[in-house]
Amino acid sequence: MEVKTSLLDNMIGVGDMVLLEPLNEDSFIENLRSRFDHNEIYTYIGSVVISMNPYRSLPIYTPQKVEEYRNRNFYELSPHIYALADEAYRSLRDQDKDQCILITGESGAGKTEASKLVMSYVAAVCGKGQEVNKVKEQLLQSNPVLEAFGNAKTMRNDNSSRFGKYMDIEFDFKGDPLGGVISNYLLEKSRVCKQPRGERNFHIFYQLLSGASDDTLLKLKLDRDFSKYNYLSLDSANVNGLDDAASFRTVRNAMQIVGFMEDEVQSVLELVAAVLKLGNIEFKPESRVNGFDESRVKDKNGETTGGLDNRAFSYRTVEAKMEKMSTTLNVAQAYYARDALAKNLYSRLFSWLVTRINESIKVGPLFAKTRHKVMGVLDIYGFEIFEDNSFEQFIINYCNEKLQQIFIELTLREEQEEYIREDIEWTNIVYFNNAVICDLIENNQNGILAMLDEECLRPGTVTDDTFLDKLNTICAEHQHFESRLSKNSKFLTDHSLPHSCFRIQHYAGKVLYRVEGFVDKNNDLLYRDLSQAMYKATHSLMRQLFPEGNPAKVNLKRPPTAGFQFKASVGVLMKNLQTKNPNYIRCIKPNDKKVAHIFTDSLVCHQVRYLGLMENVRVRRAGYAFRQPYESCLKRYKMLCKTTWPQWRGPARDGVAVLLTDCSVPTEEFAYGRSKIFIRNPRTLFTLEERRRA
Ligand code: ATP
Ligand code: MG
Repeated sequence: MEVKTSLLDNMIGVGDMVLLEPLNEDSFIENLRSRFDHNEIYTYIGSVVISMNPYRSLPIYTPQKVEEYRNRNFYELSPHIYALADEAYRSLRDQDKDQCILITGESGAGKTEASKLVMSYVAAVCGKGQEVNKVKEQLLQSNPVLEAFGNAKTMRNDNSSRFGKYMDIEFDFKGDPLGGVISNYLLEKSRVCKQPRGERNFHIFYQLLSGASDDTLLKLKLDRDFSKYNYLSLDSANVNGLDDAASFRTVRNAMQIVGFMEDEVQSVLELVAAVLKLGNIEFKPESRVNGFDESRVKDKNGETTGGLDNRAFSYRTVEAKMEKMSTTLNVAQAYYARDALAKNLYSRLFSWLVTRINESIKVGPLFAKTRHKVMGVLDIYGFEIFEDNSFEQFIINYCNEKLQQIFIELTLREEQEEYIREDIEWTNIVYFNNAVICDLIENNQNGILAMLDEECLRPGTVTDDTFLDKLNTICAEHQHFESRLSKNSKFLTDHSLPHSCFRIQHYAGKVLYRVEGFVDKNNDLLYRDLSQAMYKATHSLMRQLFPEGNPAKVNLKRPPTAGFQFKASVGVLMKNLQTKNPNYIRCIKPNDKKVAHIFTDSLVCHQVRYLGLMENVRVRRAGYAFRQPYESCLKRYKMLCKTTWPQWRGPARDGVAVLLTDCSVPTEEFAYGRSKIFIRNPRTLFTLEERRRA
């Protein structure tokens, strides 16, 4: 007991914001700052962990630290992400509750790092033995593989996730890991062909060119020089602190551990090379006698396209009423087709990698039928505001809105509603509910995604501008009729808007979207000639990636749009998360220079506001950290009191009352709900737990 008290006394600032006095925004930020200055990057709001990105490696993730936090009560030691991981793991193992770890924060705030810390902690404390270790190793090594193919350097983050990832780790009844399943969400594939200034393509391209042996590059017919490739931006090819060559070795090694065969690795690298070479194909105009513009591949060295049928870039077959017609593509259209193919090839390769990894890490047949306990870890791309925001940012920000919504639902709304249901005296705490923004985007009738789909499916001339017109008309109409608090007040129209843009007031800030490319990216169509050419390729993985190119399996049904698919998969994810016990990590970025030791008040303050952290503390403070139905409370603690032990006769509620008085729990520490006992301070509970164990 001595040790623990002194630990608390030595704490820098206040470890749990719930205990902060006085509580206001300034003191909140000041507390974060003084802790940050002393390398205390974690702070609690009750059971929520705030994590400040230190932008340097701190000696706080050692095996000793793991041991320190292992099997300890959440509030016993100073705040740490390990405490959250331990708590989640133990309640999964001992109380049979499926868990999910929800990690949020803007781009560069530290979500991916946090997800890896949680995974490695859980791997360190769960199960032992050869088989179990193999499973753990495979689960962990899936990270470097997916990061190589799905992360890139952006302005915000040198290792920015350009896809969303949710991983279910499955455990047996003892808490030993059995395997896992990864779901991926929309990769930002436009990056394959073009990167904003100061950003790079996906890591793997640079890793391959820097790290592969001369022999491998020779076989792949690749040049080590980045500048030889149109798809690799030149201004930022080398990133300080990133060792592409070393990462390549890590990735190769990880692929091997995950279970990729040598020939599979080879195939994957061949397709990465194919994408780079596609980018180097050039077209020249060729006029035909009948006056149509046509294009031809300028094949400088005769090998850029390998076995690919070049005609696929020059013609497009259109099927109308059972008739096939061939139209020629002009140079611009040929380049467009080339880029569409490269993007599709790469993103399909990425999805294939996920499927292949899942194949390796899935729960073995021996256990497939038994009930598993599940811990889900969600790591998505963070909220983004760039100068130029396109369809990708729109999708990414929508996903972040949904996550914020879950947080609001579960910690702010439901919490307060429960007090009301249970008749606990309660002063309502006002918070901003972003449901209106989610609705503006996803409403089935007149949400932005629905309108975009409608435009994409409409016959006639559809352009980004017709989509914008529709958006403006419909949203403006609603604005006219509905009150200012309606969802459409989040759709901001004013005369200062630049041409071809719309603006949304997201929970995390105003974002200006340029509509250019929305229709196209949502349609996500690939000329059939191209998929057929891919299917005809001799490369077996390539064929596998373009099954619709099989002439025997022509499916005239239009594939669902990108937006539609994304919305559906996010919907499934949200449902899944709601069945689990949530654990929150709220990541905060201390500065936008990506450097250590700098804490920019205004930046932190902005994040604290939009993450709703003050409201979170207030709800938590006014409320009760812990609640349990009378029956289960009595059952667990009745041994602490002679009157209730071994058998209490009478209503459970009365039994709990006797119990608490007998254990001298101060009356202001608890409240009686209709069906549950509410306990204010979690430490009260730990005292009870400790007495139980003694
Ligand atoms: P995005 O939304 O762009 O994917 P993110 O929130 O996943 O962003 P991370 O990639 O996790 O951000 O973090 C960005 C960088 O910050 C990391 O590459 C690392 O350099 C640093 N960083 C984050 N968390 C930590 C930590 N706990 N310790 C040390 N460095 C960290
Ligand atoms: Mg990330």
